[in-house]
Amino acid sequence: MKSSESLGTYDLWRFEELQTPDHSRLYHLQAIGIGTLLAESLTSYVARLAIAHCVATGILMEREFTKYIQKTYGGANLHTIYHATAALNGTGSMATELVQTLEQLTLRNDLRFLTLLSWSELLPSRNLLRSNRAWCPVCYEHWHHSRQILYEPLLWSLQVVQVCPQHRQPLRQECPHCHKNNFVLAWRSRPGYCSKCEGWLGESSNDEPEENIESKIDWHVWTAKSVGQLISACPQLTSPLKERLVRNLLAYSDFLTEGNIAAFARLLQMPKNTVWLWCKGKNFPSLVELLKVSYRLNTPIFDLLTSDAINTDLKKTASLMPVQSTSLKRRSPNFDAKSIRKQVEDFVNKDEEPPPSMREIAKRLNHNERTLSRNFPDLCRIISARYRNYRKNNQEATIKLSCQEVRQIAFELHKEGQRPTEDRVSALISRPSFLRYRQVRRALLEACQELGL
Ligand SMILES: [Zn+2]
Ligand SMILES: [Zn+2]
Repeated sequence: MKSSESLGTYDLWRFEELQTPDHSRLYHLQAIGIGTLLAESLTSYVARLAIAHCVATGILMEREFTKYIQKTYGGANLHTIYHATAALNGTGSMATELVQTLEQLTLRNDLRFLTLLSWSELLPSRNLLRSNRAWCPVCYEHWHHSRQILYEPLLWSLQVVQVCPQHRQPLRQECPHCHKNNFVLAWRSRPGYCSKCEGWLGESSNDEPEENIESKIDWHVWTAKSVGQLISACPQLTSPLKERLVRNLLAYSDFLTEGNIAAFARLLQMPKNTVWLWCKGKNFPSLVELLKVSYRLNTPIFDLLTSDAINTDLKKTASLMPVQSTSLKRRSPNFDAKSIRKQVEDFVNKDEEPPPSMREIAKRLNHNERTLSRNFPDLCRIISARYRNYRKNNQEATIKLSCQEVRQIAFELHKEGQRPTEDRVSALISRPSFLRYRQVRRALLEACQELGL
């Protein structure tokens, strides 16, 4: 028989109430890319939230948001606000209201970074956001193939951003199937698909951008990256942005033109009064103007708006300014058609290798490209055709080289025990943009198949 001493003593159970975290009414869905150039937009988040709950976006808003959203802008009834849905990603009260609503429903606290609210102090809302939905078909296709979540970066919603900085492709606004535009947020919004006909919006390989766009593409990529930098900085921004901008503009004007605002304005290629108002803090540049100023000062737009120590960077800029300022002062020389025609003819007859583009020739002759084409259309056509032909052949050769490179990288990655995903290969290849060509992607696929992956 067991004695009572052999029984152990246990702690008493405490029946105090357990502290469990609050449950959110809607899924606590994580937003994509906060703090990066490709941070998600708020309208994309709403669409993904609706998909997660297996309802149409319009129904989710109507049933769940009505309680929180005031009627001022048509409330949560998507039918009445279609044309204004761009503002949901912007700097104003529609964005604020939707952020607050979603944060209450999902218990997240980072959704304002999916809008431009962090920049509301500085960016005038006029012409800031485009009214239709825009997208990069190559991004969609790439995410789809690499099994990543489909979403819409906030970057695509800005009017000033016209190309995808990763694929150097113009953003699309027209569905390739039904040829219609989409609202930024629609009843059946779904990232990657047309909200009108529900067709797939991705595209695997795009042709080279059209010639007239291609000449501007570097500027557009630069713009997209600069704006992306602003978006990625949203979570770390601190006020006051306006004062910093004024201080930095004055610092540049002091250093470059000894405080002479008129000369500074000439340097920036902006009207004197406009620059004067900026420097006095009475007016603020639009996003497009900010981009131009930042480009001319060779200073990232982000530094211009946030740096407290811009003076330390002035040396770097100063070394670049003389080149820019002399080119501003250079006057267009008199146009002697006869002798210039002779010079252009020389280029046609010379058979230079590689053949120069019309832009290059215009630069060498110190004349405007358009003036040359207007005066000598026959010669310019020959030069352009020769250059186009060269580029086409050169491109084919580069695609071939890229195929070999992709194959080599895939095998090396595999040897190191890593799966040769498109992202890894893209980080190692010398021309990542060439991954958009069907042939190069096929080479990767074939390498993977050979490796038994
Ligand atoms: Zn893209
Ligand atoms: Zn469509």
